[in-house]
Amino acid sequence: MCVITMPSNDAVGSGSGVVATATAPPRRRGTADARGSCWVSEQNFDLVVLGGGSGGYAAALRASELGLSVALVEKDKVGGTCLHRGCIPTKALLHSAEVADVSRESAKYGVNTDFHGIDIAAVTSYREGIVASKYKGLQGLVKARGITTVEGEGKLTSP
Ligand SMILES: Cc1cc2nc3c(=O)[nH]c(=O)nc-3n(C[C@H](O)[C@H](O)[C@H](O)COP(=O)(O)OP(=O)(O)OC[C@H]3O[C@@H](n4cnc5c(N)ncnc54)[C@H](O)[C@@H]3O)c2cc1C
Repeated sequence: MCVITMPSNDAVGSGSGVVATATAPPRRRGTADARGSCWVSEQNFDLVVLGGGSGGYAAALRASELGLSVALVEKDKVGGTCLHRGCIPTKALLHSAEVADVSRESAKYGVNTDFHGIDIAAVTSYREGIVASKYKGLQGLVKARGITTVEGEGKLTSP
């Protein structure tokens, strides 16, 4: 059993299993307090995953598939390096570069086009659109699988 305790007090309730804390209160969808936000002081899960990058969200999704109750603690954005700064945006940029190359050399393929250059603002917008749509899809998948997303920095506080 894993426990998420909020807010930043490291002393966590009794019981066996891993204890994780997060330094920001978790937001739970559903009920709201007087400030319009929803906080819980403690919640138990079969598994708490620290970090929602490729490794973390894959582990969380698989664990939920196996029937475990899962919390995914992420201090930035679910998707991590790969989705927001690594694999996905770089592949979008490479695709734009590939389209430019192909259109510049299209005559080689028997296709006549006029290449007018690269509009970097449009390339950026294309890249951001790809990342945004995959981010939305991932958030939807995590939610659909019943995984509780906790915004904040997690810390392992006991074995
Ligand atoms: C430019 C670039 C291009 C890449 N291209 C490819 C590619 O084409 N193919 C490929 O396979 N790999 C690629 N990679 C590598 C890939 O991005 C990483 O292998 C992958 O992101 C690792 O996933 P991860 O979950 O281990 O870590 P990350 O993706 O870094 O995720 C870690 C997450 O944990 C969060 N976190 C960390 N500590 C805590 C904490 N204590 N509490 C809460 N949250 C926390 C972070 O905010 C982050 O979101 C690329 C990387 C870069 C930089």
